Amino acid sequence: MLTVRKSTLASLIAMSLVLTPAWAEEDAEENGDKGYAELIAELTAQEGLFNFYRNEENGETMLSLSNEQLDTPFIYFAQTMDGVVEAGHFRGNFRQTNLIEFRRHFNRIEVVTWNPRYTFDQDSPLSRAADANRSEAVLAVLDIEADDNGRVLVKADPLFKSQALHRVAPWANPNQSGPAFSLGQLNSDRSRIARERVYENNMDVVVDYVFVNEEPVVFGSNAIADPRSITISLQHSFIEMPENDYQPRRDDPRVGYFTQEFDQMTNPEWAPWGDVINRWNLVKQNPDAELSEPVEPIVWWIENTTPHEWRDAIRQGVEDWNIAFEAAGFKNAMEVREQPDDAEWDAGDVNYNVLRWTSSPRPPFGGYGPSLANPLTGELISSNIMLEYVFMSNRWTLGELFSQGAAHSDLHTNDDATMLCSLGHELHMGQMFARLGSDNRMYDDIENDPILVQGLRHLIMHEVGHTLGLNHNMKSHSLWDNQQVHDAELTQGVIAGSVMDYNPVNLAPVGGTQGDYYSYKPGPYDLWAIEYGYSPALQDPEAEEARLQAILNRSHEHELAFGNDADDMRAPGRHIDPRIMTGAMTSDPVAYAVDRWDLVNHEFGQLLDKGREEGESHQRVLTSANMLYGQYAGQANVVSRFVGGVYVERAYVGQDDDVRPYTPVPRETQKQAMEALADYVFAPNALESMHPVLSYMQQQRRGFNHYGDNEDPKPHQMVLNIQRNVFNHILHENVLQRLSDSSLYGNEYRLNEMMADLTSAIFPSADLTTTSQNLQVEYINRLIGIAGLGTGSSYDNLSQASAVGQLRRIRNMSMPRRASDEARTHYNYLHLLIDRAFEA
Ligand SMILES: [Zn+2]
Repeated sequence: MLTVRKSTLASLIAMSLVLTPAWAEEDAEENGDKGYAELIAELTAQEGLFNFYRNEENGETMLSLSNEQLDTPFIYFAQTMDGVVEAGHFRGNFRQTNLIEFRRHFNRIEVVTWNPRYTFDQDSPLSRAADANRSEAVLAVLDIEADDNGRVLVKADPLFKSQALHRVAPWANPNQSGPAFSLGQLNSDRSRIARERVYENNMDVVVDYVFVNEEPVVFGSNAIADPRSITISLQHSFIEMPENDYQPRRDDPRVGYFTQEFDQMTNPEWAPWGDVINRWNLVKQNPDAELSEPVEPIVWWIENTTPHEWRDAIRQGVEDWNIAFEAAGFKNAMEVREQPDDAEWDAGDVNYNVLRWTSSPRPPFGGYGPSLANPLTGELISSNIMLEYVFMSNRWTLGELFSQGAAHSDLHTNDDATMLCSLGHELHMGQMFARLGSDNRMYDDIENDPILVQGLRHLIMHEVGHTLGLNHNMKSHSLWDNQQVHDAELTQGVIAGSVMDYNPVNLAPVGGTQGDYYSYKPGPYDLWAIEYGYSPALQDPEAEEARLQAILNRSHEHELAFGNDADDMRAPGRHIDPRIMTGAMTSDPVAYAVDRWDLVNHEFGQLLDKGREEGESHQRVLTSANMLYGQYAGQANVVSRFVGGVYVERAYVGQDDDVRPYTPVPRETQKQAMEALADYVFAPNALESMHPVLSYMQQQRRGFNHYGDNEDPKPHQMVLNIQRNVFNHILHENVLQRLSDSSLYGNEYRLNEMMADLTSAIFPSADLTTTSQNLQVEYINRLIGIAGLGTGSSYDNLSQASAVGQLRRIRNMSMPRRASDEARTHYNYLHLLIDRAFEA
């Protein structure tokens, strides 16, 4: 997945003044009038794109460029070779791609970057003003040490041992409250240029940056040996602008590719954009054949760190993309090779696409598939996939234990800020869930373990999909209904329209027959998307546009459903279409969730039998209980999104009957969701199935690790956290306002009816439990907050009035006759809260 920050340029500008330290200038004087030949005479040379020189005594470096290379753009690319997660760096992290030019100004070379997004028709006189109100960034200025034979020689240390090319330290976070982990200051003396690779068309320079913080406040994890001195290893790559006949392909909102965005500044259209998709340059060997091998296939290397028993499944996961490429006319588009143990290249080399495996202390992901594209054309140049061993293990990675009251909401929201792919974490939860009853350790017997094989192939297909240019498709799980999805003969390895979705592990409902666990073959959307992105273009531009339109005009078809991260509803209150959601499954996610809740309740009933082994601690019971809980909570979020939802359609005018971009979720569907929440989330006996297990949910003691934490399970907090997450959505100001707004274009589930249903769900006639007491207090406090009596409210007027209405209704409920002391105490407290709010 691409990690290029849109604000990169602005950020770079801010740091453009840091260079040309005093010592560089002194050195220039020392060199005096020495000629080019004299300066490089004693140095080791590597010749290629640029010539790179090393002084073997003191390690100092110099760089030479030919005069033709001046004033011409190179692709610059930064990736982390190794780092610490606290500072936002991890092995294989693609950091930044942009254009860089070396420009001569008298006796110096300016290293300059700019943003190519604004394009002008060269025939328009306006193009003469193309540079109006735009700032380039001068990242560095290097003195020319010698100038001879059509080449210029500069010192390389000042360029690489500073943060001129790339900001290595994290940017300050203005929203940070409290002390944060800090690298301190970059220390150029302790930093070093570790190694370089010079090829004909590209050059990599790996720099170990040492940061010094004499007074650290936050020490970070055990992965940091000493917080006063931290090394981050970063690779700078310079790549020559490819010279080929690559034809960019335009982007379209109906299909999900990563893009390069261009604003056409002289275009009078309604949407004057020239965005192009990221894709590989695949060319048919035989252009006339319907199906042809490519001139150059996309070659993947399995890194030599990969456990041998997994390699077959990994290979299969890559090669199965060939099924999709056949839809675009290519045979054997993808090729897999294994990196020899004694290979002379390493996995950071941009000339190799590598599937990499690590087992690191704090895995930032389960899988990560970034790629490097030409910023001018979208042509993909290089990519890697990072995979973490933890995905295959029983290790609990989520940091905090739900059973001890930790909230769940982070699980679905913390990845989108950095655009990391968190599929691995999701899969990992599912893997652990699916094998609750099984005896084998995860990686023992992969060939005979369909959960593991399917899960691994799915993960590889998904991450490889990113490197082909595809972004997520969180709507594709609607492919099958709730019966079909469990029928392996029907699904044949395709349980969703796309492998680019985040599906939960597909488990049979209690008593049902198990089907496919995961999608491990490309789905109909994948074939269609690859056809759009990779099918060869026609020569004639008009015929070509008609051809692309014909493909795109199928976008409304059920099996091609698409919605990416910018549409999905994983964060409460954000986005509007409940069919675009992580962790959801089938065309009826509410019914699927009910099956999953029943299954979790069933599994809690089995856990003491299955999860305890003679001679072992209770760690397995605890980890399993946390996971079951996580599954339960995840589905509560899925169901909540239907309340107040609006379906989104991106079809173009005329491609289907009555194309309407926004359609409110039907009343019956919203009601079903509310009823499911009433029965499984707000009910007085919600997650009662967990009670028999509570007194066994013990963490295995390790040293003094639980010092300062109380280790007992906190079931009230656990259930309330699920309920709060649901409130965070259905009582969100956006959702409440949308219930009213959408009633003007078709919504038939009105705000007041929804609020009344919610109150009825939370105050059922069933016996009061401590779980429902806890929930009722929470609900009343939320209502008081929405109403804003005396304190003000950010909610719209209609929502405020509705909240007051529910508070009055609750205040007027009569206490059950012969209520217990506990019930009496509880009701008196609720009345006090409401009365106090009304008096305010
Ligand atoms: Zn992903």
